[in-house]
Amino acid sequence: MIGFDLTDEHRLLEQTVREWAAREVAPHIREHDRQHFFDRERILPGLKALGLLGICVPQEHGGAGMDYVSLGIASEELEYVDTSLRVIMSVHVGLNCLTLLAWGTDDQKKRYLVPQAQGDKLAGYGLTEPGAGSDARAIQTTAVKKGDRYVLNGEKTWISLADVADNFLVIAWTDLQKKQQRDPSGMSAFVVERSFKGFSSGPLKEKWGILAGNTGYFVMDGVEVPEENMVGRPGEGFKIAMFALDQGRFTVAAGATGLIRACRDASVRYAKERQAFGVEIGQHQLVKQMIAQMESDYQASRLLWLRSGWLKNEGRRNTKETGLAKWFSTVASERAAGDAVQIHGANGYSDEYPVGRFFRNCKGAVIYEGTREIHTVMQADYLLGYRSDRPSRCELPRWQPS
Ligand SMILES: Cc1cc2nc3c(=O)[nH]c(=O)nc-3n(C[C@H](O)[C@H](O)[C@H](O)COP(=O)(O)OP(=O)(O)OC[C@H]3O[C@@H](n4cnc5c(N)ncnc54)[C@H](O)[C@@H]3O)c2cc1C
Repeated sequence: MIGFDLTDEHRLLEQTVREWAAREVAPHIREHDRQHFFDRERILPGLKALGLLGICVPQEHGGAGMDYVSLGIASEELEYVDTSLRVIMSVHVGLNCLTLLAWGTDDQKKRYLVPQAQGDKLAGYGLTEPGAGSDARAIQTTAVKKGDRYVLNGEKTWISLADVADNFLVIAWTDLQKKQQRDPSGMSAFVVERSFKGFSSGPLKEKWGILAGNTGYFVMDGVEVPEENMVGRPGEGFKIAMFALDQGRFTVAAGATGLIRACRDASVRYAKERQAFGVEIGQHQLVKQMIAQMESDYQASRLLWLRSGWLKNEGRRNTKETGLAKWFSTVASERAAGDAVQIHGANGYSDEYPVGRFFRNCKGAVIYEGTREIHTVMQADYLLGYRSDRPSRCELPRWQPS
């Protein structure tokens, strides 16, 4: 039998993150969102002090040593306040740190994972390019061996924390013949530091959601990367990119669950304040229907990410379950945010209330880390037998209490 109770440690974490985000971020978020301002000086030290930047990285590698469910709890609580906070967990912890934990050498763990898990360095993930999103095999970035270095050339775009992070996990072609054939076994993964010569970045200024977060592009113009910075073996880059997504999608799923809860709570509050036809609008059955749908979506989303976190704790493969959790909860969050605006009527169409921000923020997650359509196809392919998960050379380590 399985239990659905959170441990005392989980509950304490939930309460601590909830209180921190309510106290430190919630009072300023509307203004920061309007001003497109990423409050780096407040947020990063706060996340670091709470141990969240290395939450489920083992203590021997500088982390807090909590389990993977804890990463979900933190993601849910952070996105309850604003998506930009959860995005940091997704790219820094999910996509980057956990990939180094599973695939990194001892030296890479010492040089990169430890300072990242301790919150002294911030990390991102660079797969997407101007001409390659869902179709990752279309990337153009190349890494050509020159002595004991690789020379990287290319541009990554739509990169969370592009203008802020210190280190990036970058996917590039190392086998140019395989690039021509679109054979992903010609890709490799690298840790690229912002400080490397030839690296430059900038923000995406026209973005209309997650405005209190940083999203941008970076260019690698002949960046020389030491060969010790290759993550995994030559040719394992595509597998590593997909492995990273198994971890990032988990945080996105848990975060979207928090966003649904935020929509639900704001809608319940408003439905009891606002009157129409002589009664609170919550008395109207069609308003009740939207609120009930939010509760159903919240509970189902939560169960899905909890299952995925439990599988991770057990050291079991969870690509299918995590993909389902991400797909279901992000699509549900879009429904919840749309209905939350609807329940607020014209007030929902204004930034005076938070639901307009929820509506803009939710859409990103329906696009990144596998679009709604890619996840739909993936789930069907599993059922139809067109897709199955083969064992990987490196797996996320089973959680061991410290
Ligand atoms: C806010 C934000 C943050 C991001 N952060 C990062 C990051 O940190 N790192 C990173 O590498 N990337 C990041 N991304 C990029 C993101 O991963 C890509 O946008 C995503 O993979 C989709 O790629 P695309 O935008 O090129 O869309 P496309 O792949 O061009 O897709 C366009 C449309 O076609 C559909 N489509 C494409 N192929 C198929 C198919 N086979 N079947 C059915 N439909 C299909 C898609 O579902 C979509 O509706 C971020 C994006 C956003 C919006």
